[in-house]
Amino acid sequence: MYITDILKGREINFSFELFPPKTAFNKSGMKIQQHLSRIFDTVDNLSQFDPAFISVTYSPMNETKTTSIPIAAIIKERFDIETVAHITCINTEREDLRKIFDVLKFFHIDNILALRGDRQYDDTEKILNHASDIVEEIKNHREDFSIGVAGYPEGHPECLNVEGKKNLELDMDYFVYKTEKGADFAITQLFLDNDYYFRFVEKARKKGVEIPIIPGIMPVVNRNNLKTIKKLTGATIPPDLEKRINENIEDDQEIFEIGIEHAVKQVKDLIDKAPCIHFYTMDRWQPTERIIKEVTG
Ligand code: FAD
Repeated sequence: MYITDILKGREINFSFELFPPKTAFNKSGMKIQQHLSRIFDTVDNLSQFDPAFISVTYSPMNETKTTSIPIAAIIKERFDIETVAHITCINTEREDLRKIFDVLKFFHIDNILALRGDRQYDDTEKILNHASDIVEEIKNHREDFSIGVAGYPEGHPECLNVEGKKNLELDMDYFVYKTEKGADFAITQLFLDNDYYFRFVEKARKKGVEIPIIPGIMPVVNRNNLKTIKKLTGATIPPDLEKRINENIEDDQEIFEIGIEHAVKQVKDLIDKAPCIHFYTMDRWQPTERIIKEVTG
């Protein structure tokens, strides 16, 4: 079933993102098994919230290339939850992409999150350079997918003007272009200040974008989280959140509580304004479960 149809039929929607193992085996062969069982435990535990969908990340450059699609297929088959397969176009030949689309259909997966992928991986001849290209490629190959794309409420880190500052206008134009190429829904990069999401949606609507724009939420659950969020996404950390975390930097339990409290506030504010709330679970159900229970309980 297409994500857009699922979202239409329900008042409150939650969705969850999973991260398949990036490496196949450690020496004892346990790592991938433990990781896989954590993934399915996460699905099992979060299925109590009747997810609108579960999305599964992908990279052509590591083990997720082989695990991502089967994991999405198993979730759909075993848990009867709709899945979104992330597919990146970087480092992949056009012909191989088409085969991937066919494999997805073989597994009855109807939804793709169409992404460029991270540039650091791109060391071969570029065939498709942008997410808009993969959206177009999916559409050219077959019409029976619902296609999602990524949105960046604080701008994509590479979209800079000559002074090296984020060029939000240009980044928005490229986002609009992805929707013109045929995207049916969008999921945003995580943010810790909802105003960025609301402004992003408002700007997109003014440019004529009508598709659902699903906000991405990831709670800060430990001190390393904050560093990773800053480094990987460039998300703005609200000063009060950063201050409270720094004041408790030696107290992991308190940081966890602060992070959950912040995410609960974010979700409470978003829940009746957004079409769905998407959680970056990092394959751990406990923080997401806490947040949803506090919001809805
Ligand atoms: P694009 O939309 O192509 O944008 C990339 C950059 O190019 C931006 O700066 C944009 O402004 C610019 N741009 C876009 N179109 C054009 C154009 N036509 N001409 C010139 N410039 C253009 N990565 C993974 O590897 N695997 C995953 O599973 C994954 N899942 C993700 C899920 C979500 C919800 C999000 C937000 C990101 C995810 N990513 C994933 C990360 C993503 O691959 C990176 O952020 C990547 O750097 C950009 O991908 P994109 O699809 O947004 O690219």
